[in-house]
Amino acid sequence: MPAWKQLKARLKNSEKLYEEALTLLPGGVSSPVRAVKPFPFYVVRAKGSKIFDVDGNEYIDYCLGYGPLLLGHAHPAIKKAVETQLEKGWLFGTPHELELKLAKKIVRYYKSVEMVRFVNSGTEATMSAIRLARGFTRREKILKIEGGFHGAHDAVLVKAGSAATAIPASKGIPMNLIENTLQVPFNDVEALSEVVEKKKEELAAFILEPVLGNVGLILPEKGYLEEVRKVTAENDVLLIFDEIITGFRLGMGGAQERFGIYPDITTLGKVVGGGFPLGVVGARREIMEFIAPAGEVYQAGTFNGNPVSLCGGLATVEVLERARIHEKLEKMGSELVRALKDIISDKKLEYGVSGISSMFQIFFGQFDGHPPRNYEEALRCDREKYLELFWRMLQRGVFLPPSQFETCFLSAAHSDDDIKTTVEAYEEILKRLC
Ligand SMILES: *Cc1c(COP(=O)(O)O)cnc(C)c1O
Repeated sequence: MPAWKQLKARLKNSEKLYEEALTLLPGGVSSPVRAVKPFPFYVVRAKGSKIFDVDGNEYIDYCLGYGPLLLGHAHPAIKKAVETQLEKGWLFGTPHELELKLAKKIVRYYKSVEMVRFVNSGTEATMSAIRLARGFTRREKILKIEGGFHGAHDAVLVKAGSAATAIPASKGIPMNLIENTLQVPFNDVEALSEVVEKKKEELAAFILEPVLGNVGLILPEKGYLEEVRKVTAENDVLLIFDEIITGFRLGMGGAQERFGIYPDITTLGKVVGGGFPLGVVGARREIMEFIAPAGEVYQAGTFNGNPVSLCGGLATVEVLERARIHEKLEKMGSELVRALKDIISDKKLEYGVSGISSMFQIFFGQFDGHPPRNYEEALRCDREKYLELFWRMLQRGVFLPPSQFETCFLSAAHSDDDIKTTVEAYEEILKRLC
């Protein structure tokens, strides 16, 4: 019997709510990945590493809002900062000082960034970054990675990893828009050089996640990002690092600091808002001053620079500065990944493990213990098996993201006990599943 059937009796209220939701929301949800098959669980509250559902079940959360909650749920310092802000009002429609405070932090930690524009989501950040690159270079084409995900706007919804309905591209997107989006496989320098050299006259930018976090988790091979920087610089094509997952997660300065490779334009989201809606476009002054009203690339928003989001973000950055959170997460992450690798090598199981800092994922398929190195390889994973893992882990009180094409996250709130429980659950379940 599949695990969800065994769990059904413990998820009665969730199932009922989902039935009603199906009549009110397309697919019953507000964002596709949440529509877990055959039905998702409904959450009432969350605190630290734990999330609680409407049937009174409790789970250790490795989904963490799909990335933003690096400090865990309802962190007291963020709560306090936001409460203080709410007393003062939550929308001004004028400039306010929090914009300067958070901008200064970002500029300090991101060497490639001298100015920022605050927007409301990662999607808006990459959309604006691409428009900026096109405006700056006066070229129209962009290059992305197959399986790279940059949010839910037209230019990037082509072979977009976790966005399964966007394979090859989402319905509703004009063909002429997609024609301007070129693609190359990750970790393939030759393919990249070929396209960039051939198309450089038309190519505004190459956008990529330095670590792919939306086809499971795929790391750049040694030397790849160096080559990416070299090829784009030599051919005068802007390099955009989409650090919406990695920013403030792989360290204060994100993937660019960690790998020592600096892009022309950076997008941030998720962690930078501390769980509130926030996106950031950043670059050196020369590029940023193309954005309106300094320049002629239009970008605007009623909620841009929202005080509550900026406050949540600033409080997050301040906690990260005070406590040695990244160090703790590095250690916890590498221990967890080692434990998962040990389970494979002990049992000669058929799956791959991938991990960096507070991100990890396992892939079902024959990878000889190694994770896939690009999208095409990731597509060969056994996604049904992953879903069964999801349900069995849930049964054991562990909430993993419900898709093989998402990444698991650790937070500062996870305890050694949480990790121990999780590893035990993995071990027992993987032995049976593989
Ligand atoms: C989540 C994500 C986005 C989109 O951000 P939203 O806030 O969901 O719009 C863009 N790029 C990457 C790499 C992401 O992981």
